[in-house]
Amino acid sequence: MVVIQKEKSKWYLCNPKKPKPLIKLHDKYFKPFLSEAQILAAVKSVAQKVAADYKDETPVFVGVLNGSFMFVADFLKEYQHPCEVSFIKLSSYQGLTSTGIVETLLDPPDNLEGKSVIILEDIIDSGRTLKELIHLFNNTNVKEYKIASLFYKSEVYNGEYAIDYIGIDIPDKFIVGYGLDYDELGRNLREVYQLNEKHMINLVLFGKPGAGKGTQAEFLKDQYNLKHISTGDVFRYNIKNGTELGNLAKSYMDKGDLVPDEVTIKMLQDEVEKHTDASGFIFDGFPRTVAQAKALDEFLKTKEMRIDATLALDADDEVLIQRLLERGKVSGRTDDQDESKIRNRFEEYNQKTAPLQAYYETQGKYHSVNGIGAIEDITRRLGKVIEEL
Ligand code: AMP
Repeated sequence: MVVIQKEKSKWYLCNPKKPKPLIKLHDKYFKPFLSEAQILAAVKSVAQKVAADYKDETPVFVGVLNGSFMFVADFLKEYQHPCEVSFIKLSSYQGLTSTGIVETLLDPPDNLEGKSVIILEDIIDSGRTLKELIHLFNNTNVKEYKIASLFYKSEVYNGEYAIDYIGIDIPDKFIVGYGLDYDELGRNLREVYQLNEKHMINLVLFGKPGAGKGTQAEFLKDQYNLKHISTGDVFRYNIKNGTELGNLAKSYMDKGDLVPDEVTIKMLQDEVEKHTDASGFIFDGFPRTVAQAKALDEFLKTKEMRIDATLALDADDEVLIQRLLERGKVSGRTDDQDESKIRNRFEEYNQKTAPLQAYYETQGKYHSVNGIGAIEDITRRLGKVIEEL
């Protein structure tokens, strides 16, 4: 039997090189838990153990629908000896009737007399369904029956009956995939996913203009299902639409100066308020002054939220200037096209934004990440920090 460690769950379990994003089924998010290879190895080991006990007779494998259909199919491919197959389906939540007879939606086949039956279950957790199965098969005239379950939650199983064959002992987490569903969705997934109970994550992306904050935010927001707020983008949107806020910000932005704190803080708060259902935020380009950082902390506290980490993308000034000038050619951003404006933005950064490093270091939240290299390498470096939070 394989035991899955109850250690801090690994988001990258399925393929460490290429993280799989969360999946959404109905209203909930699920993260990768068991890879297809891990599942198939467990199926094979169960099939081999059963074969060792039953290879000299012709057992009947009875799958318990709906969840076990994938397990049964793969189990049979691994079972190399004569056998029969059938399915049963129990009424989900009715349990025993007053007469002590289990209600079934699909009855066991009636030719089981004198045969050995191995019941194939996808998962045993509390043991309620197992109890129904035991009662059901106690009322048949089979030679003997055994229970095989691919997944088993030892933490919550009541232990009333012995389980004869177990594939993987898993922690008490809600899982989907490989036949198991969340409200009928997810049965067709090849891997098993686990309910993502991770609490809200709020990140500050920190770094000089051109460090790649916006580019990285685009990836991280999908990977961790976060709302990306770029104060620069919000200002540019307002300028484009000629709003009062845009007209106010434009004069500062044109010179490469920071927009006054009171304006920016208010705007940021409004953006957060618009997305109260988000499962976390990436703040990109905010805070840029200590006053903004303090205001952000206070504001988040009123919402029972907090900054979990500040991820600083480090890069050399000369590299950044070249990047910004290149970006200016395609984006049309005037503040990216003039080297003197760029240098003024760096000056603003050094004077007003750089002190934030100490502010977040004191809180133990500052993480410096090498911002030079291929985009996906930098995303991976950031992901590694996030995983360890
Ligand atoms: P960005 O797109 O982040 O490079 O921001 C472009 C410009 O928007 C900056 O140079 C500032 O003029 C203004 N801006 C963006 N975020 C802030 C902020 N947090 N505080 C003050 N000004 C900001």
